[in-house]
Amino acid sequence: MIPFNKPYLSGNELEYIKESVMSGKISGDGVFTKKCHRFFEEKYSFPKVLLTTSCTDALELSALLLEIKPGDEVIMPSYTFVSTANAFALRGATIRFIDSNPDNPNMDVSQIEPLINENTKVIVVMHYAGIACEMDTVMALADKYNLYVVEDAAQAIDSFYKGKPLGGIGHLGAFSFHETKNIISGEGGLITVNDSRFSLRSEIIREKGTNRSAFFRGEVDKYGWVEAGSSFLPSDIIAAFLAAQLENLDAIQQRRKSIWQQYWDGLSRLQEAGKIRLPHIPDYATNNAHMFYIICTNLEERTGLIQHLKQNNIHAVFHYLSLHSSPYFQEKHDGRPLPLTDYYTDTLLRLPLYYELTDEQVQYIIHHILQYFE
Ligand SMILES: *Cc1c(COP(=O)(O)O)cnc(C)c1O
Repeated sequence: MIPFNKPYLSGNELEYIKESVMSGKISGDGVFTKKCHRFFEEKYSFPKVLLTTSCTDALELSALLLEIKPGDEVIMPSYTFVSTANAFALRGATIRFIDSNPDNPNMDVSQIEPLINENTKVIVVMHYAGIACEMDTVMALADKYNLYVVEDAAQAIDSFYKGKPLGGIGHLGAFSFHETKNIISGEGGLITVNDSRFSLRSEIIREKGTNRSAFFRGEVDKYGWVEAGSSFLPSDIIAAFLAAQLENLDAIQQRRKSIWQQYWDGLSRLQEAGKIRLPHIPDYATNNAHMFYIICTNLEERTGLIQHLKQNNIHAVFHYLSLHSSPYFQEKHDGRPLPLTDYYTDTLLRLPLYYELTDEQVQYIIHHILQYFE
C-alpha cells in the first residue's frame, strides 16, 4: 500500500534526541529549542518566535494574547482545520465564516469587509496548501478598522507572499510540525510574534502565566504569577527532533517540489481536457509543495476515484468538512450559504506526497488516475 503520508527521518534526529536526554535537561527552552528559535529568526527574519506543543496551541496562545472574550467577532475561512476556529471559540468569540475563492480554496478576501462591525477584533487567514492568501487586502482592512491579523501558517513553512515569508505578515502567525507537514516533530508548533507589543506577554502566557523567561534572562530578580496563561512549551526532546529536520529543510523541500512537479506534468492533460482541476498558484504566491490536490467534478466522481486508487493500493484522502456546517457550529452559523466551501469539501482530493515517495510510485499513481478518467 502507498500511504498518504510517511514521516521521514532526515539524518540527526535520533542523535540529537540522545544528546538532549544525556544533557540532563529535557524540559522546555533548552539548547535545541533555542537552536530552532535561532533558525527561524535568522532564515525568515521573524522578529520573535517561540516553539509550542502544536499549531493548535500556537493559535490558542494567539487568542489569549489578543484577549479575545465573549462578544468579540473573528472572521476566518470555513474551509480549514478545526483548530483555526476552535482556538477562538474556546475564548467565547463569535466566529464569522467566509467562503473560498473560485480558483483556489483560500478565503475570498473580497467578502471580509461587509462582515466587519464594531465587535470585530481579528481576521484569521489560513494559507491553504502553503499557498498564500491575498494579504495586501487583508492587512489594509486590518489597518482601516484597527483589527488584528493571525496567520494560520500550519501548512506554509518556507512559502512566500510577494517575497515576504508567510507567518511573518500578520501580527501573529502559527506553524505546525505535525507528522503530516513538510517539517515535522511528531506533534509540534511555533508562534511568530511579529508585533513587539506582544513579545513579553507571549513568553508569559506560554510559561503558565509567569515571567520565568525574563527571570532567566536576569531582567527581574524573582518570578511569579503575572497573568493567566498555560503551558505551551514543548520538551527539548521534541525540539531536538525538529532541529535535525530544520538542518535538512532545503533537501526536503527540493524533493517535495520534484514530486509535486511530476504530478503536475503527469496530470496536466486531464486539466486541459476539462476533467479535473489542478492547484492554482496566484502570481503573488510561491509553492512550498506542502500538498498536491486535484479537484474532481462532483462527489460521486471523487468517491469512485478514491475506490479505484484503493483497489490499486494507493491511499488518497479528502478533507475539511465545512466548519460552518459542522455538528458543533451549524446552529451558530448566521445562515449565509458558502457554496465554494461546500464544493471543495465534496470534490478536493489529496494525493500521497512525502519525501520517500519514489519517482516510480509517483508514476504509478499518475497512471491509475489517468486510467480512471480515460
Ligand atoms: C495541521 C493544521 C493545524 C493543526 O496543527 P497541529 O500542530 O496538529 O495542532 C491547524 N491548522 C491547519 C490549517 C492545519 O493544516
